[in-house]
Amino acid sequence: MNQTSNIANKIPLIARADNDNKSYGFTYNSINFSQEGFEIFGGLNAVDSRSSVEACFKKIRELNLSCARMGAYKPRTSPYGFQGLREDCLDYVFELAGLYNIKVIAMEVLSEKHIEAINSVLTKLNNPCGVMLQIGTRNAQNFELLKACGRQTEYPILYKRGFGISLEESLQAAEYIANEGNNKIIFCLRGMKSNYSGPHRNFVDFSLTPTIKRLTKLPVCIDPSHSIGNKQTDQNNISDLFHANAAGIISGANMSLVDIHPSPKDSLVDGPQTLDLNEFEILVKDSQFVRNSYLERKKLFFM
Ligand code: PEP
Ligand code: MN
Repeated sequence: MNQTSNIANKIPLIARADNDNKSYGFTYNSINFSQEGFEIFGGLNAVDSRSSVEACFKKIRELNLSCARMGAYKPRTSPYGFQGLREDCLDYVFELAGLYNIKVIAMEVLSEKHIEAINSVLTKLNNPCGVMLQIGTRNAQNFELLKACGRQTEYPILYKRGFGISLEESLQAAEYIANEGNNKIIFCLRGMKSNYSGPHRNFVDFSLTPTIKRLTKLPVCIDPSHSIGNKQTDQNNISDLFHANAAGIISGANMSLVDIHPSPKDSLVDGPQTLDLNEFEILVKDSQFVRNSYLERKKLFFM
């Protein structure tokens, strides 16, 4: 038995069968998320004010994008770190999303209560936008949270790979979600914690993008912001964060999750890795350029 089928036996619901070359995915709130598509989710790592949210949505709309990220609940290393505005920001985040026609917002949840809070605000406001529930790397093996995200089938799940566990363990964690009945899952690469990755914050693992698409039916997201952790540039003024983003896209990533802020120095969480709105505009152009190259590249190998 080869290595592929060894893993496949452990993840029967999300695994792609040997010799199955179909593309998989799902549609949510009119956006198709698939192993063939590509979406950029730029937005606030941590929501800090209504005006920051609005500035991001305005830019995202200007750039003709339909998705965003918005952190309301933050998992922080220190209990004294900013924990997010939590329920206090949900109303205006969703209202503004509706106003700017943002279809899907990726939002991290740390407990089942957060899913309920998001659901109740969206329902109260008559669903102005959709939400993709994000499971952060620190909760990659929080099995009760995984089960809770799987029990509900309304919201798709953005599952972030655990930063200190094997790929096989993370895939089995994603299987927990499918096993409870929710198969709208996107698998996110966000880099691994390692002493060998410096000066990057995490060891970039985007070379696994095609591997996960081969092993599973899940679309793959990359998070260049958390992988690189800073905006240092090379001699051509291109930052490692942009290069990592391009590396993921050229190998077929279906989504890129990017921290942006109208004034990154004022961002309450992860400022050093956060793009301002002009930098984001360049990242979007660069991403489209690389995505087109990927589509051209695919033709070379078409059988
Ligand atoms: C985030 O995306 O805001 C985040 C906390 O990421 P991670 O779980 O990958 O650290
Ligand atoms: Mn973070």
